[in-house]
Amino acid sequence: MNIQAHCKFCGRQVNLAIDDGFDTENLNKWVAMAACNPCADARMVLLATEDKIRGAIMGSATALRLDDRGAIETQLREKLTRHTKALAHVVCRYYGQPSIWDVDFVNQLMENQDRTKTVIRTYCEMIRRQAKSPHQVFK
Ligand SMILES: [Zn+2]
Repeated sequence: MNIQAHCKFCGRQVNLAIDDGFDTENLNKWVAMAACNPCADARMVLLATEDKIRGAIMGSATALRLDDRGAIETQLREKLTRHTKALAHVVCRYYGQPSIWDVDFVNQLMENQDRTKTVIRTYCEMIRRQAKSPHQVFK
């Protein structure tokens, strides 16, 4: 069975192929969760990168108790630079923008280590506003 649904992130039409014998009792719940491939792929990368950023910050906080603060912060800054550049590439590509990255992205994370999600979502919102695409995947 095929069902026409809409991507929960961007609203594009999505064709859902439902296997015969699939329990349709919760079908509306599944249809409401439909996502198009570009949105699903971008969202997966975003969430994985957020995890990497949080992991780097948590690892750094643990290491600070044991080692030289300057060296640990330098290592953390290098990891955050790598992760934010990767994230910027994915987010900008998703919104059809040239890759936009600035060291301030890393500075914001270094200064707001307990608010990583807010810093990342603020960056994504900035890129979304510059885009012509109606995607809103990162809200
Ligand atoms: Zn979509």
